Amino acid sequence: MLKVIIDFDGTLTVEEEQARPLADKSLDTLAGEILSLPRQRLAADYDKTQARLLAAPDQYWWEVNGLIASYCDEGAFILNTTTLQVMLRENPAYAQAVAEFFPHAEYDPVVDCTNYLFHRHTAELPPVFRPGARELLAFLQHHPALRPVVLTNSLGDKVRRFLGMLSLDGDIDVLGDTRQYDMDPNWRQHFPHPELGQIQVWPLAEGRQVDLRRPVYYQALLDAASDGSCLAVVADTFSLPGALPLLMRSPFFLLRTPYTPRWCLQVVEAHPLGQVLGSLVELPERLTALYA
Ligand SMILES: [Mg+2]
Repeated sequence: MLKVIIDFDGTLTVEEEQARPLADKSLDTLAGEILSLPRQRLAADYDKTQARLLAAPDQYWWEVNGLIASYCDEGAFILNTTTLQVMLRENPAYAQAVAEFFPHAEYDPVVDCTNYLFHRHTAELPPVFRPGARELLAFLQHHPALRPVVLTNSLGDKVRRFLGMLSLDGDIDVLGDTRQYDMDPNWRQHFPHPELGQIQVWPLAEGRQVDLRRPVYYQALLDAASDGSCLAVVADTFSLPGALPLLMRSPFFLLRTPYTPRWCLQVVEAHPLGQVLGSLVELPERLTALYA
């Protein structure tokens, strides 16, 4: 059995259309409930911060426990999360208010704050599915050797509810709360790279890198394969869902979207187990070619 693990946000859904509504809802909550500030001022600050990130995307990232979880330019929701994190960290008054609102942070107050805003507000945004999303899931459901599993950092119940809107035959397995951003600098696990040997950080072109120290996501992938299944992963972003499967010797399909940066396409195309998809419609044939 091959489990085809498909990321939810941005892969099955049109994330580029949802990023601005998500930012707007997040700014409402930040201004009204967390920072107690005029929303207009915060929105101007957000836009200014985001322009700065996009002018130097290799200099800004989603940071957890001192490690890079993802560069800011890898996805539309990731850009929103990173913009909020940079804005909140850089302004001492914002950082102070966030620390008071999240006094028992699981990561640090800013990461907890952006997780809170993401989980709360993506659950309120009705999903817009990409062309071919429903057909792809139905194809995998009915194929004797393939099984779809939907992957998400969100809580599984949100994704189950949204998948229910597709009226498929039967439920799809959901691998939820996988915390691909859960970085642990003390984790000892290394991964074999064909040229570099045993590594924890994968150096890429132009000074970028992907840190592989993601123990929660690693365990989620091991669990998914624990019944003897092989895995393939499909996603719209690279560092969070894609790098670890590739170095665990599973095929990874990167879906090209309007926001996919060139450097991500290049890394995936250069890896023997990586492939770039122009659309979800291409996947059944690619899978059949790999596993027929
Ligand atoms: Mg995604």
